[in-house]
Amino acid sequence: MVPFLDLQRSFDALRPEIEAAVATSLASGRYIGGPEVTGFEDAFARYTGAAHCIGVGNGLDAIRLVLDALGIGAGDEVLVPSNTYIATWLAVSQCGATPVPVEPDPVTHNVTAAGLEAALTPRTRALIPVHLYGCPAPIDDIVALAGAKGLFVIEDAAQAHGARWKGDRIGHHGHAATWSFYPGKNLGAFGDGGAVTTDDPDLAARIRLLGNYGSHERYVHDVQGVNSRLDPVQAAILSVKLAHLDAWNARRGDIAARYTDAFAETGLTLPAPPKVADPVWHLYVLRHSDRRHLQDWLSQQGIQTLIHYPCPPHKQAAYATGAVLPIAETLADQVLSLPIGPQMTDSEVTRVIEAVTAYPGV
Ligand SMILES: *Cc1c(COP(=O)(O)O)cnc(C)c1O
Repeated sequence: MVPFLDLQRSFDALRPEIEAAVATSLASGRYIGGPEVTGFEDAFARYTGAAHCIGVGNGLDAIRLVLDALGIGAGDEVLVPSNTYIATWLAVSQCGATPVPVEPDPVTHNVTAAGLEAALTPRTRALIPVHLYGCPAPIDDIVALAGAKGLFVIEDAAQAHGARWKGDRIGHHGHAATWSFYPGKNLGAFGDGGAVTTDDPDLAARIRLLGNYGSHERYVHDVQGVNSRLDPVQAAILSVKLAHLDAWNARRGDIAARYTDAFAETGLTLPAPPKVADPVWHLYVLRHSDRRHLQDWLSQQGIQTLIHYPCPPHKQAAYATGAVLPIAETLADQVLSLPIGPQMTDSEVTRVIEAVTAYPGV
């Protein structure tokens, strides 16, 4: 069996370092905040090129805290991709605003500035592009559009740790970028975690305040905040893993390159990142009109695949509005994610390639 992603291997690869970091954190006597958290925040800010990093509880909270800190709420519209993971939409709903779906470019699966512009109304306050599957959306065009229209840009970078657009790391182009450290992400904790990066010191301070009970000083509450903080044990683990992120992303890139080479003649629709993007291959997503048969075939060959995502947010019971979004619906019917991960062996990659190229349906 070739697993889709084997998280245990990423622990095994760094076991002594991670065990030492966890032991140090547990022995420190600081179980909320403290040096493990600030150490990771500083390192991750430096890594992304942003001036500030604020650790939070998870990736959903990260988006929601930015929206709250920007004063976005009831009566406001926020543009979100139609084909994203539902967290992007939920964050907008939780702050009382309305998520307005924008269809992606069917080749890159990412929203474009033109697509966003067509969805603007007088109520639009913010744009949330998602760097889906680890491939950056055209962030310079999106930031230019937002600048011209007086809108905020929040980058949902939950799948894009280390990705670059025109050579420049994602994490500081918009007003803020939001991160998830869910275990399966390229930089994953061994539990939940998240962060916001931003160049704006006032926004950073406001997010920190909101995520810590609206309190800048113990028992002094300036606003009605929430409890959403990065756990120090997770921060210690993330600091260990951050030092390996570039090497692990490079390994993902090698696997993606092997797939793309091997499948060139198959007739499958392959990922097609823009030339100016350096994706980090959180996922390697194919498209095939008969996805179910391809998935069954691969499963029979011992290859585990997943679907990101089988049902777009507007078709979920949580959002069933009757909206028709044909690109999101077609992608949901056709996408298939192949195994990819930094600890995949060369022979596993070969097995995936042999199984896909032997598929009789393409
Ligand atoms: C994983 C993910 C999130 C949510 O992150 P959590 O840490 O699970 O809350 C948000 N947006 C996207 C695009 C994601 O992939």
